[in-house]
Amino acid sequence: MASLRATRKIWEVSYGSEEGLPSVDPRGFFFIMAPEFIRQARSTRAREAVSYRDTLVGGTAQVTNPNRFSSRAYIGFNNTPYKGAPKHCAEMRAIGRGMQDGYTQQEAIVVAGPTDPDVIKSIIGKVTSTLPPCAPCSGIIQESALVLTIGETDNIAQAWTGNQIKQLYKPVGLVGRRKREEALAKKPSPQQFEIPVDHTAEFWANAAEEYAGKAALILAQYPEEQRLENMYDIRLAQAVAAVDSLYVAAA
Ligand SMILES: [Zn+2]
Repeated sequence: MASLRATRKIWEVSYGSEEGLPSVDPRGFFFIMAPEFIRQARSTRAREAVSYRDTLVGGTAQVTNPNRFSSRAYIGFNNTPYKGAPKHCAEMRAIGRGMQDGYTQQEAIVVAGPTDPDVIKSIIGKVTSTLPPCAPCSGIIQESALVLTIGETDNIAQAWTGNQIKQLYKPVGLVGRRKREEALAKKPSPQQFEIPVDHTAEFWANAAEEYAGKAALILAQYPEEQRLENMYDIRLAQAVAAVDSLYVAAA
């Protein structure tokens, strides 16, 4: 698959050990690495994205292999050289490359794309401040992922849980394209608040601290021996906490 070969791993961290459950939440690394992940999403968009209608998108996906206590980030870009070309979205490629390598748990996905309302509407059928993952991509994004959508050059971002991204397209995802577009146009846009994206180190430090506190409180609700079986609920709650933390730090 040539399209996937073109994506690249840009970061990797080892955490915890084989002995017992890891005490480290790999999503915590996102708040440390976010400025770099944002920079990489934007630069891969500028360097490598291809679109017949000039809608260039770049992305960074932080994904984890919990069995190996390893987390990685991959970059991806869209490649739509002509109308009707097979869909190769930035986030689809970055996530897909991680999955190929056994990194199936999604921590955070940064998508750098257009902020022009008309362009966004033409892609997803509704107006948001930044470009969220499209309907097919929403199918591969996990409910418990943190999704940060940012402007290609301007200072705008929105934060979502994967669950919120899926809700953008429900329940109209399964009907024909035209009917889906009509239904989407009628649906109110669940617009997330805007936050500035070109943050100071202080912003990210505050967001990291906020998230670490919230994530620990969520974890503390479960006795250690029950954490593994409740991991889905824990991670879902932590994704909401991650979004909240960004808005708290921006307030
Ligand atoms: Zn997509």
